[in-house]
Amino acid sequence: MTAVETPQITVIVPVKDEQASIDHFVAEFSARVAADLADFTILFIDDGSTDNTIEVIEATRRRDPRVHYLKLTRNFGKEAAMTAGLDHADGDAAIIMDVDLQDPPEMIPQFIQRWRQGYDTVYGVRTSRDEDTHAKRFSARLFYKLFTMASGITIPDNVGDFRLISRRMIDALRQLPERNRFMKGLFAWPGYSAIGVPYERPARARGQTSFNGWKLWNFALDGITSFSSLPLRIWTYCGIFISFGAFLYMLKIIVATLLFGNEVPGYSSMMCVLLFLGGIQLISIGVIGEYVGRLYIETKARPIYLLEADSRRDSPVDP
Ligand code: UDP
Ligand code: MG
Repeated sequence: MTAVETPQITVIVPVKDEQASIDHFVAEFSARVAADLADFTILFIDDGSTDNTIEVIEATRRRDPRVHYLKLTRNFGKEAAMTAGLDHADGDAAIIMDVDLQDPPEMIPQFIQRWRQGYDTVYGVRTSRDEDTHAKRFSARLFYKLFTMASGITIPDNVGDFRLISRRMIDALRQLPERNRFMKGLFAWPGYSAIGVPYERPARARGQTSFNGWKLWNFALDGITSFSSLPLRIWTYCGIFISFGAFLYMLKIIVATLLFGNEVPGYSSMMCVLLFLGGIQLISIGVIGEYVGRLYIETKARPIYLLEADSRRDSPVDP
């Protein structure tokens, strides 16, 4: 961390179809975060909105020159939008937060204080997830257990993307070029000092969430496969185990045939073994497929996002 008097901090806010939330967010931010705390830039990343999000941001910019935006050419997903923000964050630190005020701006002074004490990451820890269903909470917990087991990287519990990260953390993240952006894992990967600050996560202020069960499942798959090859290795051990069992069974059949002669062997047990092994083989091929597919995407090395506009470069605000 640089020991500057008034640090420059970029507040990265990914937005997709959030025309109803922008004004409210900027107003709350200004009301809850003292302007002299840092030299703030509120950098909205428009992730392919199809409503009037950009127009609303433009209008807000006329009132508050701290507001800026990057416009992506289409919807690349929140992870790509955050990456775009980090790539363009040129201050001493960056704060990532949602526009729906589920990440309360009043936490920011504490974040900055912790950062000044020398922490590279200060993340918000949700003290309650009352607004989430039991199933969502249970599956989240299960996922983080599995992730830590498979990758050896610990993702703190009940932590989202809401965080402040230091300059060297931003620089470290920029060195991770993968297309598969599992940010929670990427944030944990550099291993710089981190501390959590507890907060109550309120319900979404306006608009609607765009994450559903299927998206979250794919998110979990991306997370595990991009940080671990354990799912591939499992099948080696399964194979060894099953082959060993089959070998013992073969010995039994040979001995029994020698001793008692050949009786017609059971059809049903044959079917069971056949179907069981067929199933295992299909699953393992599927798992290999998951990795091959990701390899394919990564080797193409396409950019993570494309920029349509950057308000700090191409469209200065009218005075
Ligand atoms: N978001 C985005 N791109 C997307 C989906 C969402 O930039 O494809 C933004 C959205 O505008 C919001 C943040 O990501 O600022 C969190 O989204 P949301 O509140 O819907 O998610 P939840 O809080 O339910 O996890
Ligand atoms: Mg939200």
